[in-house]
Amino acid sequence: MEFAGGCHCGNLRVHLRLTLPPTEAALRSCRCSFCRAHATRTVSDPHGMFEVWADDWSDVEPYRFGTRTADYLVCRRCGVYIGAVGETPAGLRAVVNTNSLVGRDAFTQAPARPDHDGEETPARLARRAANWTPAVLHR
Ligand SMILES: [Zn+2]
Repeated sequence: MEFAGGCHCGNLRVHLRLTLPPTEAALRSCRCSFCRAHATRTVSDPHGMFEVWADDWSDVEPYRFGTRTADYLVCRRCGVYIGAVGETPAGLRAVVNTNSLVGRDAFTQAPARPDHDGEETPARLARRAANWTPAVLHR
């Protein structure tokens, strides 16, 4: 399954490949205050692929918070959050905000509400290596 998307102003463009149809893909709305503020519905697939392009990377905010182990990519022009990327023991991995995809309405699973507060960094990175999506930033 292939999905295109990006931010609202067009600076950021993304492409996501998933091995499950969107109606079966598990979604997450994490409980952290960033995700609640953006009403995120993220997806990840360790056998998929996420690619990101930007017309101007200087207009992309790699916002970090908490353990500062991932960049939450927000467009500085239009404010859209497209997903988070971080280095893991398995390489660069990402979760994707399905709300930034053209096919957003096809993702129909009720989001799980995980709470990762208090998770130690090694466990966090191992979880991302196992569960997040291989990612390439074209910059
Ligand atoms: Zn934008």
